[in-house]
Amino acid sequence: MPALSRRVSLFTDSVIRRMTRISDEYGAINLSQGFPDFDPPKAILDRLAEVAHEGPHQYSITFGADNLREALARKHSKAIGRTVDPAEEVLITCGGTEAMMSAMMTVCNPGDKVVVFSPFYENYGADAILSGAEPIYVPLVPPAFDFDRAVLEDAFRQGAKAIIVCNPSNPTGKVFTREELEFIGSLAVKYDAFVITDEVYEHIIFPPYTHVHMAGLPGMYDRTITCNSLSKTYSITGWRLGYLIGPAEVVENAKKVHDFLTVGAPAPLQEAACVGVNFPESYYEELAALYGEKRAYFCGGLDKLGLKHTTPQGSYFVMLDISDFLALPQFSGWTDLQFCEWMIREIGVAAVPGSSFFREPVNHLIRLHFARCKETLDLALSRLAKLSALLK
Ligand code: GLN
Repeated sequence: MPALSRRVSLFTDSVIRRMTRISDEYGAINLSQGFPDFDPPKAILDRLAEVAHEGPHQYSITFGADNLREALARKHSKAIGRTVDPAEEVLITCGGTEAMMSAMMTVCNPGDKVVVFSPFYENYGADAILSGAEPIYVPLVPPAFDFDRAVLEDAFRQGAKAIIVCNPSNPTGKVFTREELEFIGSLAVKYDAFVITDEVYEHIIFPPYTHVHMAGLPGMYDRTITCNSLSKTYSITGWRLGYLIGPAEVVENAKKVHDFLTVGAPAPLQEAACVGVNFPESYYEELAALYGEKRAYFCGGLDKLGLKHTTPQGSYFVMLDISDFLALPQFSGWTDLQFCEWMIREIGVAAVPGSSFFREPVNHLIRLHFARCKETLDLALSRLAKLSALLK
């Protein structure tokens, strides 16, 4: 067989998605890949049932159905205090994943440098390789996951074309403050770089933290590409609906990438999801409150078990510190991946090894999520009790 692409040999499959496959194989409770095990809002499902008979069943306009782009433009305009043009500044994609990949392909030439905070959502690594970009990693330092401003400026000084900001951050749960975002924005202006944001958890955020849109900060709209998704906000991760919003010139180019990558996102699903995007503000308040209860319940459960963990300010991810386990003789020399595989088999709970998010050699953190109904969280906690018992 002739040699395959070198580029593709430079990254592995997604460890997040791989953990789901292993979890399914062993029938474990899957707290690895982040998606809810409860239903999407009824109004969206009712519309989907209608659409099944009424259509559309053929392609939508490549860039996304008019009504969905209009609804998203209205929602985003309100959020950032500026009118967003649904025709020129919004692109509907197949999930946030395609939004991010299109943004990277639109902005980067091979060899361009892109600043990425570490730990980072693992897609960004493959996005960088496929778009030819060279990541410059800037650590988010635990426990608060702060960054050193001088280190960040040094990264920009190396000639960064763009920075990726995942806010709220997966996997750390960090919510960037307005001041931090203003600082990042000021560097983007000073060094003439784009800011590509990933805001898929914007509505899963816990008081007193609030979401600040980079695109809404003074002077930032023209250099910000906002990537987002309907997956988490409306509990429809399998529908693969995402979007990208940015200045017209950028979106015009992103549309070309999207056109040849996927042609378009599923038309019937766009039509049904549009109902959600038109929900009143109270929907988002209830969503945040629901996840707030889950956070309190799950983190409280981990505390009772004596398991050390982070508590997210936003998103539904928790990093569990497994250092004490790795110090036990039976786990001596183990990687976090081996530990996660063992946990699936012997404890019956799936997590993601933290090393798949870190540039640095971190081996003592694993990621769990709490986007699960109470019964599932109860069962997961009772299984994790077997884990914590090893330390007693
Ligand atoms: N963002 C989710 C996670 O980190 C998964 C998204 C995906 O698999 N496309 O688990």
